[in-house]
Amino acid sequence: MKYILALDQGTTSSRAILFDTSGQPIQTAQQEFPQIFPQPGWVEHDATTIWSTQQAVIQRVFAQLPTTENHPEVAAIAITNQRETTVLWDRLTGKPLANAIVWQDRRTADYCDALRQQGHQAMIQTKTGLILDAYFSATKLQWLLDNIPGARDRAEKGELAFGTIDSWLVWNLTAGRVHATDPSNASRTMLFNLHSLDWDEQLLKLFNIPRSLMPTIVPSSGVLGETDPALFGRAIPIAALIGDQQGATFGQTCLSPGMAKNTYGTGCFMLMNTGHEPVPSMNRLLTTIGWQFPDATTPAGGTQEESNAGCCGTPGACGAAGCSAGSCGPATPRTDVTYCLEASVFMGGATIQWLRDGLGIITSASEVEALAQTVADVDDTYLVPAFTGMGAPIWDGHARGTLIGMTRGTTKAHIARAALEAIALQVADVLTAMEKDSKIKLTELRVDGGAAKNNLLMQMQADFLGIPVVRPRITETTALGAAYLAGLAVGFWKNTEEITSQWAIDRRFEPAMSEKDRQAKLTRWHQAIERARGWTQH
Ligand code: ADP
Repeated sequence: MKYILALDQGTTSSRAILFDTSGQPIQTAQQEFPQIFPQPGWVEHDATTIWSTQQAVIQRVFAQLPTTENHPEVAAIAITNQRETTVLWDRLTGKPLANAIVWQDRRTADYCDALRQQGHQAMIQTKTGLILDAYFSATKLQWLLDNIPGARDRAEKGELAFGTIDSWLVWNLTAGRVHATDPSNASRTMLFNLHSLDWDEQLLKLFNIPRSLMPTIVPSSGVLGETDPALFGRAIPIAALIGDQQGATFGQTCLSPGMAKNTYGTGCFMLMNTGHEPVPSMNRLLTTIGWQFPDATTPAGGTQEESNAGCCGTPGACGAAGCSAGSCGPATPRTDVTYCLEASVFMGGATIQWLRDGLGIITSASEVEALAQTVADVDDTYLVPAFTGMGAPIWDGHARGTLIGMTRGTTKAHIARAALEAIALQVADVLTAMEKDSKIKLTELRVDGGAAKNNLLMQMQADFLGIPVVRPRITETTALGAAYLAGLAVGFWKNTEEITSQWAIDRRFEPAMSEKDRQAKLTRWHQAIERARGWTQH
């Protein structure tokens, strides 16, 4: 067996990448698919197109292999995916009941405000590690059940299945035999208890979600099923499920506590490995599951089921059976689970897409660097790309995009440069919040994702952070991380030491801005953000 096939189902495209034992991408195929914007603030994907594009890229990669018959060289398939995006489908026909509601979709923002006013935020944060927000799957799923005629009745009869994109792909790859997700994806639904590592009864009740809809939770690394032989001529083991950002963290080999990476894709996502225990955030970041290996260390006090499943894990805090006695929650950290702190910025590379598609000032994302370089600075112009509200650390669903500071001398080059700066400034803000929460001062930031190719953006990032930014040789870290998790499960790689030794630097960007200039820049940026906040409430 020569390869692991990683499926990277992203927000804008489906990809399939074959990795060899040295962690090199050998074959890649990619296909974009349409973004659907039915109303302002709504973002949908056709789940059927997600599956068909994913299948098409797998076939294209297989067609490039020397032996096309039965693909004996592929040891296992790994799945990594856009997270939170919510699919509801019919268990019998396998057909989605509606378009998938994408993570960027804000249709349930007002409902989330109402839940916050009713006082649910603290309980949700304690149990899930998340900020109560429309970003996560729970309110999206509730919306589908409440707005598709007959859906709730059918859900209660057990006829429907819910899944994030990993579950949807597994269902299709196994011809409906396996309905599963992993803790990294589950921890983004706002229905998963970070401490008991299971769906949470109190949350299912709050969001009115029948448990029969929910997938089985399996470890991130481990064979969970096989592809239907009719698809690729033979059954191939599916050996990893991992949310895209956790996949990138693993692919960047941030395997020790305190290591962090930032991915510049559609959004920007910074994750820091915090080890085997969840670190609660005081700075509006998310506590999330990194990954889970199958070799569970049974928590003290019994099996996972016996140790008060559904409890928050904080003695006396949630009132589940045994909780008030102060005996709940794993007394010994589960060494099979790695937790992360995460900060999500909604508009990363998507800001550049807007320059291309919304403004038409570039024809492809790669042109932005040259255009921005035609001016020396932004001339005090700031773009706050709050097109779909703002994520960490602001969390304002009512903020809207703002371009401020323009004069008669402002050109498209200033706007392009301000767009790049906006990406780097948002990331600088979340890194500050992460350092406060983790009480760890980062010494460097590992970077990846489509926009990390942009050298000007990476230099801006090092300048605004005041620490070096390090880009690895392989920037397909999301897919690579998934491949590593699958490869470890099937013996393709022996251990994490072997994969850590494969990580290699492409380029290191050293900060070149004075501390005074850096602080002045951040101050001006924060003033611009204030102008963007709360816009839709007026
Ligand atoms: P995703 O996985 O979220 O689909 P990718 O990692 O493929 O995203 O990155 C694509 C994003 O990166 C797009 O939003 C695109 O606008 C942006 N991008 C691609 N190349 C560049 C570049 N040279 N400079 C800035 N942004 C870029």
